Parts: sequence; C-alpha cells; structure tokens
Amino acid sequence: MPEYEVRVDRKKCIGAGFCEKLAPQLFKLDENNRSTIKGGSSKGNVISLPIGPAQLKECVEAAKVCPSYAIEVIDKRTGKSVLGIDPDKEIPVKKIKAHYESRKEWVMDTLGFFTIKPFPDEGIIRVRYYNAKHQLAAEIDGKTAEEIYNTICREKLVSSLSHAAYLGSELQKAEIAMKKRLPYVQDDPLKM
Ligand code: SF4
Repeated sequence: MPEYEVRVDRKKCIGAGFCEKLAPQLFKLDENNRSTIKGGSSKGNVISLPIGPAQLKECVEAAKVCPSYAIEVIDKRTGKSVLGIDPDKEIPVKKIKAHYESRKEWVMDTLGFFTIKPFPDEGIIRVRYYNAKHQLAAEIDGKTAEEIYNTICREKLVSSLSHAAYLGSELQKAEIAMKKRLPYVQDDPLKM
C-alpha cells in the first residue's frame, strides 16, 4: 500500500532536468522539456504517482534539488509535505556586497595546487595535481569541467571551499577555450 505521493507541477517546472538526472527511473523530461513522472496520472498541470517507502528517499532528494519547487512529496496519512522545507515562508534576506582582495585574502590550500591545460584536438582537459611538497601526485584527464571538479572533490585533493570554487571557475574557462579553440592561460581572462 503506497504511503506517499510524489507530484510534479508542470507549470512550475523550468526544465532544469535535475530530477531526471537524480532519479531517471521515475522522472523524465518530455518533448516540451517539462518533467513527467513515469507511470503517473495527470490532473491539470499536476502529475502524481503513489509511492512506497522504497522510493521516498529519491523523491525527496529530487524535490530538494528542483530549483523551482515543482516537485512535492506528500505523506498520505497526514496529507502534509514530507520535505521539511518551507519555500513560501518569508524570512529576512541578507544583502551582501561581494568583495575579495586576493593579495590579502588568498590562502594556499594545505593539500597543494593544480595546473590546467586543455587539448582541443583530443577533446580533453588535463589537470595536474601537485601535493603540499610540490610533487606531481596525480594527473586527471576529463572531457568536461563538471566531471573533473567532481573527481577532484571525490578524491579529496582540495581542502578549502575557496580552492574548490576557484577550480570550478577555472575549469569552466578551460572547457570553453577547448570547445571554441581559444587560447587558454590559467588565471588569465579568456580572450574571446
Ligand atoms: S528538477 Fe524541477 S524544474 Fe528541473 S525538470 Fe525536474 S521538475 Fe522541472
């Protein structure tokens, strides 16, 4: 007996596709780039599917990553959302002016540093990891910034959020340079 229900409000869906990536056995983008639930039934803009506890975790995770709150998971016994989020409740919004002075604020990652080089002919970006003693300790080849920075994080080769963010931004530049065959110099702006 299903104890929960997952719902997608297709009017709210912006087609970002995170739900399909996370749980492709349940969610699928249709030809209009809107999420549908496999085996679900439609009522107006809402598609719903009764689910059991085995599918609860993936549905809750999909709902939490959905940037437009298009996915809802309801506990059928209480009729309430099980998400534990409250996106419509207004709370004080902090206004923060971004600032960063690299000379004063930059801190060397205690785990080491990276060099980045795109190879357009091979369609890869090669990242070299040097440890705290400046020894070459790993070479990572990848096709996209996303797979490389996630590999670096998984391998625990960075120790600071700031360094991980730097790598994400620098690798994205390298990916653009590789795909558009632009010159790439690490830490320099891209010349388009
Ligand atoms: S994650 Fe949300 S916005 Fe993105 S496709 Fe799924 S339902 Fe639509």
